[in-house]
Amino acid sequence: MPTDDATATPAIEVRDLHKSFGDLEVLKGVSMTARDGDVVTLIGASGSGKSTFLRCINMLDQPSAGEIVLAGEALSMKPGKGGLVATDRKQLERFRARLGMVFQQFNLWQHMTVLQNVVEGPIQILKVPKAQARERAEALLNRVGLWDKRDQYPAFLSGGQQQRAAIARALAMEPRVMLFDEPTSALDPELVGEVLRVIRSLAEEGRTMILVTHEMRFARDVSSEVMFLRNGLVDERGAPDQVFDAPESEHCRRFVQSVH
Ligand code: ADP
Ligand code: MG
Repeated sequence: MPTDDATATPAIEVRDLHKSFGDLEVLKGVSMTARDGDVVTLIGASGSGKSTFLRCINMLDQPSAGEIVLAGEALSMKPGKGGLVATDRKQLERFRARLGMVFQQFNLWQHMTVLQNVVEGPIQILKVPKAQARERAEALLNRVGLWDKRDQYPAFLSGGQQQRAAIARALAMEPRVMLFDEPTSALDPELVGEVLRVIRSLAEEGRTMILVTHEMRFARDVSSEVMFLRNGLVDERGAPDQVFDAPESEHCRRFVQSVH
């Protein structure tokens, strides 16, 4: 649950993020703060810059300008080809390890079993001893309801199971912040609920999360803040009740009605 101490160092802060692809300015100054336990949800029409925002946070896309601050530490960046580049590789690796990303397309390693997918990062990157990584992976798979699928290859799993495995894989890195980019958009409708249940349980245990979703009812339930992006700017932001029930922005009002 969100901490009451407004002076505590936020888990993550993004300040005035800009991003252009060539002449196309996709993000025009977006800021966001998530304190420990916050769930910040981004909503907005397709093309409004939601994925780009998440991708810039862990430098999968290079921001053009702005600051990314994780647990009080600013990512060191300088202008380079294509945008800002991290100046300190070790720091960038540390940042990325603290940001767990779950994509719309599950992105599991197809040639590895579910269990191998989950233990790979901890063993290779965090240098966790194998037996310990395995024990923890099994606990995480149990948590997302996939313990009995641990020796299966991803191709034999449903989309919902693959996405739950992807969540377990991200959690295995013990990230400070989880980033979800439309985690249920690629799923058949009957599989959406099982994935949302897992994400909800993470919210309830106080995980800090940045979430992009079109599941408005879910967003209303779990979010501490909702940000409505439009043309690369935050057009409306606030508590879920405000954004969904009483938005100041006409665009937000119409968007929310159209997706409900
Ligand atoms: P959303 O996730 O809100 O649907 P995106 O962040 O994916 O929006 O995209 C925002 C805009 O940036 C779109 O116009 C998209 O075409 C453009 N865009 C995204 N990625 C790239 C890229 N790698 N190169 C060029 N344009 C891109
Ligand atoms: Mg997107």
